[in-house]
Amino acid sequence: MSTSPDRREILGWLREENPRRLEELWRRADATRREYVGDAVHLRGLVEISNHCVRQCAYCGLRADHRELIRYRMTAEEILAAAREAVSLGYGTVVLQGGEDPGLTSTGITDIIRQIKAETPLAVTLSLGERSETELAAWRTAGADRYLLRFETSDRALFDAIHPPLGRQPCDRIALLRRLKALGYETGSGIMVGLPGQTYTSVADDILLFRDLDLDMIGIGPFIPHPTTPLGNSIPPESITDQIPNSEITVYKAVALTRLVRPDANIPATTALATINKHNGRELGLQRGANVFMPNLTPVKYRQLYEIYPAKACISETGATCGGCLATRIASIGRRVGRGTGGRRTPNGQGRYVLQDTGVL
Ligand code: SAM
Ligand code: SF4
Repeated sequence: MSTSPDRREILGWLREENPRRLEELWRRADATRREYVGDAVHLRGLVEISNHCVRQCAYCGLRADHRELIRYRMTAEEILAAAREAVSLGYGTVVLQGGEDPGLTSTGITDIIRQIKAETPLAVTLSLGERSETELAAWRTAGADRYLLRFETSDRALFDAIHPPLGRQPCDRIALLRRLKALGYETGSGIMVGLPGQTYTSVADDILLFRDLDLDMIGIGPFIPHPTTPLGNSIPPESITDQIPNSEITVYKAVALTRLVRPDANIPATTALATINKHNGRELGLQRGANVFMPNLTPVKYRQLYEIYPAKACISETGATCGGCLATRIASIGRRVGRGTGGRRTPNGQGRYVLQDTGVL
């Protein structure tokens, strides 16, 4: 049984640069992952259903002000076809992700969820930004199982600077995560690592917040500058002496520490990680705490238009090619593809954890 690191220890590991000492962190994270969630790697088919967005996030290539970007919104039939492909490829979950797009209407998404749940055994995860409580409740009632909403950084001043509100009300993604939990969603969140102005200390606080929010899923990727965005070419202010880098190794440290503080969470080896190390970033993520992959099922004609950052991994592979490639990568490190929906393990009342590796939640 591993002990959860405290703030001082987390900060020490985030700053650690000695590769030999870091081996100890990788070993602890991998052992904790094996103990709590086993060797199964769950595959979540990602469908990027719309690149329209009303927001102006200073980091993201889909922001409304990126006027040159050609916008698309998938039809209900296209989304259902992608869900059927997820089933045929043996995936247990479909993730419907998009910009914050009012064109994805409450009833439109409700109908799609109902059809997927009626036709398939898939768990349905939504990641559609900050939607109203009424919409979130309706989608949960229609059968959506999970919701992903990264809080991006727990540094309130930094978040406000890079994630402007739509109206007068400030955004509070952390409060929204609590509401999602209360609605009965399995709730996922996460951060980018290496945002300009983001400190080692604030990332340590982010990791502790993962634990305090008792998140079911936690996605961590490097911040990758997009040249069309305000953060695209910005250099962190000189006053920030504690700036955390957006390097691959820093992301592994954050993933490993997250596994130690949230031992039974589902943690993906993210596409952003695969983008900065196309060769084996995903495998290293899986060996340093992660247990989930998110193969892309978005129709190829839309893929390159979902350009949240440049040179994204897996931009031209079909769903089938992507799934085959990931299965090979998983086998190459001695792990196995998980079956079923791969929901969070739940305590069975005797201090032990039960697998939800098969069956539907
Ligand atoms: N619109 C929804 C939202 O914001 O939650 C979901 C889609 S959004 C594109 C998904 C995630 O992409 C964000 O939560 C953010 O962490 C990540 N992202 C956006 N721009 C990024 C960048 N330049 N580098 C790395 N990750 C980025
Ligand atoms: Fe829109 Fe999400 Fe990108 Fe922000 S991160 S601009 S909400 S797609």
